[in-house]
Amino acid sequence: MLTQAQAIAGEIIRLRRDIHQHPELSFQEYRTAALVADTLTEIGGIEIQTGVGRTGVVGQIGREEGPIIAIRADMDALPITESTGLPFSSQNTGAMHACGHDAHTAILLGAAHLLRQSFADESWRGGVRFLFQPSEESSDAQGISGATAMIADGALAGVDAVIALHVASDYPAGKLYFQNGYSLAAVDPFEAWIRGDGGHGAYPHNGSDPLYMLGPILTALYAIPSRRINPLKPCVVSLGQVSGGDVHNVIPNEVRLKGTIRSHDEETRRRLWREIEAALRLSEAMGGGYTLEISEGYPALYNDPEVNGWMRSAAQALAGPEAVVDAQFGMGAEDFAYMARQARGAMFMLGAAPADGMVRHHHTSSFDVDESVLALGAAVLAETARRFATGQLPNARPD
Ligand SMILES: [Zn+2]
Ligand SMILES: [Zn+2]
Repeated sequence: MLTQAQAIAGEIIRLRRDIHQHPELSFQEYRTAALVADTLTEIGGIEIQTGVGRTGVVGQIGREEGPIIAIRADMDALPITESTGLPFSSQNTGAMHACGHDAHTAILLGAAHLLRQSFADESWRGGVRFLFQPSEESSDAQGISGATAMIADGALAGVDAVIALHVASDYPAGKLYFQNGYSLAAVDPFEAWIRGDGGHGAYPHNGSDPLYMLGPILTALYAIPSRRINPLKPCVVSLGQVSGGDVHNVIPNEVRLKGTIRSHDEETRRRLWREIEAALRLSEAMGGGYTLEISEGYPALYNDPEVNGWMRSAAQALAGPEAVVDAQFGMGAEDFAYMARQARGAMFMLGAAPADGMVRHHHTSSFDVDESVLALGAAVLAETARRFATGQLPNARPD
Protein backbone atom coordinates (compact mmCIF):
# COMPACT_ATOMS: atom_id res chain seq x y z
CA MET A 1 0.00 0.00 0.00
CA LEU A 2 2.86 2.39 0.80
CA THR A 3 4.52 1.70 -2.55
CA GLN A 4 1.23 2.38 -4.32
CA ALA A 5 0.82 5.56 -2.29
CA GLN A 6 4.30 6.73 -3.17
CA ALA A 7 3.49 6.18 -6.81
CA ILE A 8 0.71 8.79 -6.54
CA ALA A 9 2.59 11.10 -4.11
CA GLY A 10 3.07 13.70 -6.85
CA GLU A 11 -0.67 13.82 -7.50
CA ILE A 12 -1.48 14.15 -3.77
CA ILE A 13 1.00 17.04 -3.50
CA ARG A 14 -0.44 18.69 -6.62
CA LEU A 15 -3.93 18.54 -5.08
CA ARG A 16 -2.66 19.89 -1.76
CA ARG A 17 -1.04 22.86 -3.48
CA ASP A 18 -4.13 23.55 -5.55
CA ILE A 19 -6.30 23.59 -2.42
CA HIS A 20 -3.66 25.57 -0.52
CA GLN A 21 -3.65 28.26 -3.18
CA HIS A 22 -7.46 28.58 -3.04
CA PRO A 23 -8.38 28.47 0.65
CA GLU A 24 -12.01 28.90 1.66
CA LEU A 25 -13.36 29.76 5.09
CA SER A 26 -15.76 27.60 7.11
CA PHE A 27 -19.00 26.64 5.30
CA GLN A 28 -17.77 28.41 2.15
CA GLU A 29 -15.79 25.48 0.71
CA TYR A 30 -17.49 25.61 -2.71
CA ARG A 31 -14.43 25.42 -4.94
CA THR A 32 -12.79 22.82 -2.70
CA ALA A 33 -15.95 20.68 -2.67
CA ALA A 34 -16.15 20.88 -6.49
CA LEU A 35 -12.49 19.87 -6.78
CA VAL A 36 -13.16 16.93 -4.45
CA ALA A 37 -16.24 15.79 -6.38
CA ASP A 38 -14.41 16.13 -9.72
CA THR A 39 -11.42 14.16 -8.45
CA LEU A 40 -13.64 11.38 -7.05
CA THR A 41 -15.45 11.23 -10.40
CA GLU A 42 -12.10 10.91 -12.20
CA ILE A 43 -11.05 8.09 -9.87
CA GLY A 44 -14.29 6.34 -10.79
CA GLY A 45 -16.38 3.66 -9.12
CA ILE A 46 -17.31 5.97 -6.26
CA GLU A 47 -20.86 7.00 -5.43
CA ILE A 48 -20.78 10.75 -4.80
CA GLN A 49 -23.12 13.03 -2.89
CA THR A 50 -22.54 16.77 -2.72
CA GLY A 51 -24.07 19.44 -0.49
CA VAL A 52 -23.95 17.15 2.55
CA GLY A 53 -23.80 19.27 5.72
CA ARG A 54 -24.05 22.35 3.44
CA THR A 55 -20.71 22.24 1.56
CA GLY A 56 -19.54 18.72 2.40
CA VAL A 57 -18.98 15.83 -0.01
CA VAL A 58 -19.55 12.12 0.67
CA GLY A 59 -18.17 9.33 -1.47
CA GLN A 60 -18.68 5.61 -1.07
CA ILE A 61 -17.02 2.57 -2.52
CA GLY A 62 -17.46 -1.14 -1.84
CA ARG A 63 -20.40 -3.25 -0.78
CA GLU A 64 -23.25 -1.43 0.85
CA GLU A 65 -24.65 -4.47 2.63
CA GLY A 66 -21.43 -5.14 4.58
CA PRO A 67 -19.91 -3.20 7.47
CA ILE A 68 -18.83 0.33 6.61
CA ILE A 69 -15.79 2.27 7.73
CA ALA A 70 -15.71 6.03 7.16
CA ILE A 71 -12.63 8.20 6.70
CA ARG A 72 -12.98 11.89 7.40
CA ALA A 73 -11.04 14.92 6.19
CA ASP A 74 -11.86 18.56 6.91
CA MET A 75 -11.64 21.17 4.14
CA ASP A 76 -11.83 24.66 5.65
CA ALA A 77 -9.19 27.37 6.00
CA LEU A 78 -8.61 30.07 8.62
CA PRO A 79 -9.01 33.87 8.49
CA ILE A 80 -5.24 34.46 8.42
CA THR A 81 -3.11 36.23 5.81
CA GLU A 82 -0.34 33.90 4.68
CA SER A 83 3.30 34.96 5.11
CA THR A 84 5.16 31.79 4.07
CA GLY A 85 6.28 33.13 0.70
CA LEU A 86 5.65 29.69 -0.83
CA PRO A 87 5.20 29.69 -4.62
CA PHE A 88 1.71 28.22 -4.10
CA SER A 89 0.71 30.69 -1.36
CA SER A 90 -2.92 31.62 -0.78
CA GLN A 91 -4.46 33.70 -3.55
CA ASN A 92 -7.38 34.67 -1.29
CA THR A 93 -6.14 37.49 0.93
CA GLY A 94 -7.29 36.99 4.49
CA ALA A 95 -7.72 33.23 4.14
CA MET A 96 -5.08 30.58 4.62
CA HIS A 97 -4.81 26.85 5.14
CA ALA A 98 -2.93 27.32 8.40
CA CYS A 99 -4.03 24.08 10.06
CA GLY A 100 -3.29 21.59 7.29
CA HIS A 101 -6.85 20.87 6.18
CA ASP A 102 -5.58 21.25 2.59
CA ALA A 103 -3.28 18.30 3.33
CA HIS A 104 -6.14 16.32 4.92
CA THR A 105 -8.34 16.77 1.86
CA ALA A 106 -5.53 15.81 -0.54
CA ILE A 107 -4.61 12.80 1.63
CA LEU A 108 -8.19 11.53 1.62
CA LEU A 109 -8.41 11.93 -2.16
CA GLY A 110 -5.19 9.91 -2.32
CA ALA A 111 -6.69 7.26 -0.04
CA ALA A 112 -9.80 7.10 -2.26
CA HIS A 113 -7.53 6.49 -5.23
CA LEU A 114 -5.69 3.70 -3.40
CA LEU A 115 -8.91 2.06 -2.25
CA ARG A 116 -10.33 2.18 -5.75
CA GLN A 117 -7.28 0.18 -6.88
CA SER A 118 -7.69 -2.24 -3.97
CA PHE A 119 -11.40 -2.74 -4.59
CA ALA A 120 -10.65 -3.70 -8.17
CA ASP A 121 -8.44 -6.62 -7.26
CA GLU A 122 -9.68 -7.87 -3.92
CA SER A 123 -12.83 -9.43 -2.61
CA TRP A 124 -14.41 -6.85 -0.38
CA ARG A 125 -17.08 -7.66 2.16
CA GLY A 126 -17.77 -4.13 3.29
CA GLY A 127 -17.61 -0.55 2.17
CA VAL A 128 -15.61 2.60 2.72
CA ARG A 129 -17.20 6.03 2.97
CA PHE A 130 -15.22 9.21 2.38
CA LEU A 131 -16.35 12.19 4.42
CA PHE A 132 -15.09 15.55 3.14
CA GLN A 133 -16.26 17.83 5.89
CA PRO A 134 -16.72 21.60 5.89
CA SER A 135 -16.20 24.00 8.80
CA GLU A 136 -14.04 22.29 11.41
CA GLU A 137 -12.50 25.56 12.59
CA SER A 138 -15.70 27.34 13.49
CA SER A 139 -19.36 26.96 14.30
CA ASP A 140 -22.23 29.06 13.01
CA ALA A 141 -24.46 31.25 15.20
CA GLN A 142 -26.44 28.14 16.23
CA GLY A 143 -23.28 26.37 17.37
CA ILE A 144 -23.30 24.03 14.36
CA SER A 145 -19.91 23.01 12.95
CA GLY A 146 -19.21 20.86 9.91
CA ALA A 147 -19.22 17.49 11.68
CA THR A 148 -22.60 18.18 13.29
CA ALA A 149 -24.03 19.42 9.99
CA MET A 150 -22.87 16.28 8.17
CA ILE A 151 -24.24 14.00 10.90
CA ALA A 152 -27.59 15.83 10.67
CA ASP A 153 -27.62 15.08 6.93
CA GLY A 154 -27.10 11.37 7.57
CA ALA A 155 -23.44 11.14 6.55
CA LEU A 156 -22.69 8.75 9.41
CA ALA A 157 -25.78 6.56 8.95
CA GLY A 158 -24.84 2.89 8.85
CA VAL A 159 -21.18 3.60 9.66
CA ASP A 160 -19.54 1.06 12.00
CA ALA A 161 -16.27 2.90 12.56
CA VAL A 162 -14.83 6.28 11.60
CA ILE A 163 -11.16 7.21 11.31
CA ALA A 164 -9.15 10.36 10.60
CA LEU A 165 -5.74 11.92 10.91
CA HIS A 166 -4.45 15.39 11.67
CA VAL A 167 -1.10 16.65 10.41
CA ALA A 168 1.12 18.12 13.13
CA SER A 169 3.66 20.71 12.00
CA ASP A 170 5.37 20.65 15.42
CA TYR A 171 6.10 16.92 15.34
CA PRO A 172 8.94 15.26 13.37
CA ALA A 173 7.98 14.36 9.81
CA GLY A 174 7.02 10.76 9.23
CA LYS A 175 6.28 9.86 12.86
CA LEU A 176 2.76 8.77 13.74
CA TYR A 177 1.24 9.56 17.13
CA PHE A 178 -1.49 7.59 18.86
CA GLN A 179 -3.43 8.03 22.09
CA ASN A 180 -6.17 5.76 23.38
CA GLY A 181 -9.23 7.10 25.16
CA TYR A 182 -9.76 10.82 25.77
CA SER A 183 -7.13 12.65 23.80
CA LEU A 184 -8.44 16.13 22.96
CA ALA A 185 -10.56 18.37 25.14
CA ALA A 186 -14.18 19.43 25.30
CA VAL A 187 -14.17 23.20 24.78
CA ASP A 188 -16.80 25.46 26.28
CA PRO A 189 -16.38 29.20 25.75
CA PHE A 190 -17.94 31.42 28.37
CA GLU A 191 -18.75 35.04 28.87
CA ALA A 192 -19.55 36.67 32.21
CA TRP A 193 -20.51 40.10 33.49
CA ILE A 194 -19.78 41.17 37.05
CA ARG A 195 -22.34 43.83 37.86
CA GLY A 196 -22.11 46.62 40.39
CA ASP A 197 -23.43 50.09 40.88
CA GLY A 198 -20.71 52.45 39.71
CA GLY A 199 -20.26 56.16 40.30
CA HIS A 200 -17.75 58.81 41.31
CA GLY A 201 -14.32 57.38 42.07
CA ALA A 202 -14.13 59.62 45.14
CA TYR A 203 -17.19 58.05 46.76
CA PRO A 204 -16.89 54.25 46.36
CA HIS A 205 -18.99 53.63 49.49
CA ASN A 206 -22.07 55.06 47.75
CA GLY A 207 -22.27 52.19 45.27
CA SER A 208 -20.71 48.81 44.60
CA ASP A 209 -17.55 48.38 42.59
CA PRO A 210 -17.32 45.51 40.05
CA LEU A 211 -13.56 46.09 39.62
CA TYR A 212 -13.05 45.41 43.30
CA MET A 213 -15.19 42.25 43.01
CA LEU A 214 -13.01 41.12 40.10
CA GLY A 215 -10.02 40.46 42.41
CA PRO A 216 -11.45 37.62 44.51
CA ILE A 217 -13.35 36.26 41.48
CA LEU A 218 -10.14 35.95 39.45
CA THR A 219 -8.45 34.17 42.34
CA ALA A 220 -11.40 31.79 42.63
CA LEU A 221 -11.57 31.10 38.88
CA TYR A 222 -7.88 30.29 38.57
CA ALA A 223 -8.05 28.07 41.67
CA ILE A 224 -10.78 25.84 40.21
CA PRO A 225 -8.44 23.33 38.48
CA SER A 226 -6.04 23.14 41.43
CA ARG A 227 -8.50 23.21 44.38
CA ARG A 228 -11.93 22.10 43.16
CA ILE A 229 -11.24 19.36 40.59
CA ASN A 230 -9.67 15.96 41.11
CA PRO A 231 -5.99 16.41 40.11
CA LEU A 232 -6.22 13.20 38.05
CA LYS A 233 -8.80 14.82 35.76
CA PRO A 234 -7.32 17.04 33.02
CA CYS A 235 -8.94 20.47 32.85
CA VAL A 236 -8.19 24.12 32.10
CA VAL A 237 -9.93 27.39 32.93
CA SER A 238 -8.39 30.33 31.05
CA LEU A 239 -9.49 33.92 30.56
CA GLY A 240 -8.86 35.65 27.27
CA GLN A 241 -10.45 39.00 27.94
CA VAL A 242 -11.25 41.22 30.93
CA SER A 243 -12.71 44.63 30.24
CA GLY A 244 -14.48 47.35 32.16
CA GLY A 245 -14.40 51.08 32.75
CA ASP A 246 -13.14 54.03 30.70
CA VAL A 247 -11.70 56.82 32.81
CA HIS A 248 -9.60 57.27 35.94
CA ASN A 249 -12.30 58.66 38.26
CA VAL A 250 -15.45 56.74 37.34
CA ILE A 251 -16.26 53.35 38.85
CA PRO A 252 -17.93 51.35 36.05
CA ASN A 253 -21.22 49.49 36.36
CA GLU A 254 -19.85 46.24 35.01
CA VAL A 255 -16.77 44.23 34.14
CA ARG A 256 -16.87 41.72 31.31
CA LEU A 257 -14.90 38.46 31.19
CA LYS A 258 -14.39 35.99 28.35
CA GLY A 259 -12.74 32.64 28.75
CA THR A 260 -12.49 29.00 27.81
CA ILE A 261 -13.24 25.86 29.83
CA ARG A 262 -11.58 22.61 28.77
CA SER A 263 -12.01 19.09 30.08
CA HIS A 264 -12.10 15.43 29.13
CA ASP A 265 -14.91 13.53 30.86
CA GLU A 266 -18.49 14.81 31.09
CA GLU A 267 -18.61 14.75 34.89
CA THR A 268 -15.61 17.07 35.19
CA ARG A 269 -17.09 19.26 32.47
CA ARG A 270 -20.35 19.81 34.38
CA ARG A 271 -18.46 20.31 37.65
CA LEU A 272 -16.34 23.04 36.03
CA TRP A 273 -19.50 24.83 34.91
CA ARG A 274 -20.86 24.78 38.47
CA GLU A 275 -17.55 25.97 39.95
CA ILE A 276 -17.37 28.93 37.57
CA GLU A 277 -20.85 29.91 38.64
CA ALA A 278 -19.78 29.59 42.30
CA ALA A 279 -16.75 31.83 41.70
CA LEU A 280 -18.92 34.53 40.13
CA ARG A 281 -21.39 34.29 42.98
CA LEU A 282 -18.71 35.94 45.16
CA SER A 283 -19.91 39.19 43.59
CA GLU A 284 -23.15 38.84 45.55
CA ALA A 285 -21.27 38.78 48.86
CA MET A 286 -19.73 42.11 47.83
CA GLY A 287 -22.92 43.89 46.99
CA GLY A 288 -23.02 43.10 43.29
CA GLY A 289 -24.31 40.46 40.93
CA TYR A 290 -23.34 38.60 37.79
CA THR A 291 -24.53 37.01 34.56
CA LEU A 292 -22.86 33.91 33.17
CA GLU A 293 -23.28 32.48 29.68
CA ILE A 294 -21.56 29.19 28.90
CA SER A 295 -21.83 27.91 25.33
CA GLU A 296 -21.44 24.19 24.99
CA GLY A 297 -18.68 23.64 22.41
CA TYR A 298 -17.03 20.59 20.85
CA PRO A 299 -17.02 17.48 23.05
CA ALA A 300 -13.78 15.75 24.02
CA LEU A 301 -12.33 13.39 21.43
CA TYR A 302 -12.55 9.79 22.59
CA ASN A 303 -10.29 7.47 20.62
CA ASP A 304 -11.79 4.00 20.72
CA PRO A 305 -8.83 1.77 21.69
CA GLU A 306 -9.78 -0.97 19.26
CA VAL A 307 -10.25 1.29 16.22
CA ASN A 308 -7.07 3.12 17.22
CA GLY A 309 -5.34 -0.25 17.33
CA TRP A 310 -6.33 -0.98 13.72
CA MET A 311 -4.67 2.24 12.53
CA ARG A 312 -1.69 1.69 14.80
CA SER A 313 -0.97 -1.75 13.38
CA ALA A 314 -1.42 -0.51 9.80
CA ALA A 315 1.03 2.31 10.63
CA GLN A 316 3.50 -0.15 12.13
CA ALA A 317 3.29 -2.42 9.12
CA LEU A 318 3.81 0.43 6.65
CA ALA A 319 6.21 2.78 8.44
CA GLY A 320 7.95 0.42 10.88
CA PRO A 321 7.51 0.18 14.67
CA GLU A 322 10.04 2.94 15.38
CA ALA A 323 7.84 5.46 13.52
CA VAL A 324 4.85 4.80 15.80
CA VAL A 325 4.79 6.84 19.01
CA ASP A 326 2.43 6.87 21.99
CA ALA A 327 1.69 10.47 22.84
CA GLN A 328 -0.68 12.77 24.67
CA PHE A 329 -2.42 15.12 22.27
CA GLY A 330 -3.25 17.85 24.80
CA MET A 331 -6.18 20.16 25.49
CA GLY A 332 -6.88 21.38 21.97
CA ALA A 333 -10.16 20.41 20.32
CA GLU A 334 -11.48 18.79 17.15
CA ASP A 335 -15.06 18.55 15.97
CA PHE A 336 -14.24 15.04 14.70
CA ALA A 337 -15.20 14.23 18.32
CA TYR A 338 -18.88 14.47 17.27
CA MET A 339 -18.34 11.79 14.63
CA ALA A 340 -16.46 9.60 17.11
CA ARG A 341 -19.61 9.72 19.24
CA GLN A 342 -21.80 8.50 16.38
CA ALA A 343 -19.65 5.48 15.57
CA ARG A 344 -16.55 4.05 17.19
CA GLY A 345 -13.79 6.37 16.07
CA ALA A 346 -10.15 7.32 16.35
CA MET A 347 -7.77 9.95 15.03
CA PHE A 348 -4.00 9.89 14.88
CA MET A 349 -1.46 12.68 14.44
CA LEU A 350 0.88 12.60 11.48
CA GLY A 351 4.18 14.37 12.22
CA ALA A 352 4.80 16.86 9.42
CA ALA A 353 7.47 19.35 10.59
CA PRO A 354 9.04 20.96 7.50
CA ALA A 355 12.71 20.18 6.97
CA ASP A 356 13.75 23.86 7.11
CA GLY A 357 13.66 23.74 10.92
CA MET A 358 11.63 26.98 11.13
CA VAL A 359 8.79 27.33 13.62
CA ARG A 360 5.56 26.51 11.78
CA HIS A 361 2.89 26.48 14.47
CA HIS A 362 -0.70 25.71 13.56
CA HIS A 363 -2.98 28.76 13.19
CA THR A 364 -0.08 31.12 12.38
CA SER A 365 0.72 32.86 9.10
CA SER A 366 3.99 30.89 8.74
CA PHE A 367 2.34 27.45 9.02
CA ASP A 368 3.47 24.76 6.59
CA VAL A 369 3.82 20.97 6.43
CA ASP A 370 6.40 18.61 4.99
CA GLU A 371 4.65 17.30 1.89
CA SER A 372 6.75 14.14 1.84
CA VAL A 373 4.54 12.66 4.59
CA LEU A 374 1.24 13.00 2.70
CA ALA A 375 1.57 9.68 0.87
CA LEU A 376 2.26 7.91 4.18
CA GLY A 377 -0.90 9.41 5.70
CA ALA A 378 -2.97 8.27 2.71
CA ALA A 379 -1.44 4.80 2.90
CA VAL A 380 -2.19 4.32 6.61
CA LEU A 381 -5.83 5.43 6.24
CA ALA A 382 -6.33 3.36 3.08
CA GLU A 383 -4.65 0.28 4.54
CA THR A 384 -6.80 0.43 7.69
CA ALA A 385 -9.94 0.77 5.56
CA ARG A 386 -8.82 -2.00 3.19
CA ARG A 387 -8.26 -4.40 6.08
CA PHE A 388 -11.65 -3.48 7.47
CA ALA A 389 -13.49 -3.84 4.18
CA THR A 390 -11.86 -7.18 3.40
CA GLY A 391 -12.81 -8.59 6.80
CA GLN A 392 -9.29 -8.84 8.18
CA LEU A 393 -9.91 -6.97 11.42
CA PRO A 394 -11.22 -8.70 14.53
CA ASN A 395 -14.49 -7.31 15.87
CA ALA A 396 -14.83 -4.96 12.95
CA ARG A 397 -18.55 -4.92 13.58
CA PRO A 398 -19.68 -3.75 17.02
CA ASP A 399 -21.59 -6.25 19.19
ZN1 LIG B 1 -7.10 24.18 13.42
ZN1 LIG C 1 -7.30 21.26 12.23
